[in-house]
Amino acid sequence: LVSRKKKKEDTIVTVRGHQVGDGNVTFVFGPCAVESYEQVAEVAKSIKGKGLKMIRGGAYKPRTSPYDFQGLGLEGLKILKRVADEFDLAVVSEIVNPADIETACEYIDVIQIGARNMQNFELLKAAGSVKKPVLLKRGLAATIDEFINAAEYILAQGNDQVILCERGIRTYERATRNTLDITAVPILKQETHLPVFVDVTHSTGRRDLLLPAAKAGLAIGADGIMAEVHPDPAVALSDAAQQMNLQQFDEFYDEIIKSVPVK
Ligand code: PEP
Ligand code: MN
Repeated sequence: LVSRKKKKEDTIVTVRGHQVGDGNVTFVFGPCAVESYEQVAEVAKSIKGKGLKMIRGGAYKPRTSPYDFQGLGLEGLKILKRVADEFDLAVVSEIVNPADIETACEYIDVIQIGARNMQNFELLKAAGSVKKPVLLKRGLAATIDEFINAAEYILAQGNDQVILCERGIRTYERATRNTLDITAVPILKQETHLPVFVDVTHSTGRRDLLLPAAKAGLAIGADGIMAEVHPDPAVALSDAAQQMNLQQFDEFYDEIIKSVPVK
């Protein structure tokens, strides 16, 4: 169902009336994790000031260590909904448990399935069974073929509103947190009809590489870019080393819009 051979035209994913994959670039910025209403609202204000339509933020955080901040859970989704309504923004947030999918639909606009859950087949089926767009991230060690098959699980349940997101894969290279597989973008665009995003934060894990990685993503044909922004990254409860502060966000955005392809 995801194959370009079966469907020639690009799939456009509609998120709160905003079209993703229609040839315009979509930007998804926001904190790694939802920490408080004030924190999310501050980032939302900055996003809104740029005329952008979406915000991200994790309420359920899949952390490597069980002793690290696990997210605010339902309370986090409620904060996201409040901010989304106040600023008229669409919300992208990760869900980790199939049992939470239905409830999440009341609070968020895009269900994110994280890298660690790319092959959580029950979660994929649950996300495929609801009428909500899904942003599916590539697994840490998933091949492109496995990634495409994971998307197929969602479409097989009847939900074709799927965005693929390249977020770096694990290699022997340690200079970056993961290795951004940039050519995955045109391959996914050739093999499937789904929109493809590049997450520059989790792929690089380095603030100094966010801009060049985003430029590369747009140059190679990505439909959207995701990056993390926090009002005060130094005190962030997760991913402190790589989130942009609001000033860095302004600078990043001023630069990256110069690289958005003109139609
Ligand atoms: C995230 O986007 O919040 C996240 C945890 O990313 P990933 O699943 O790609 O590691
Ligand atoms: Mn993060």
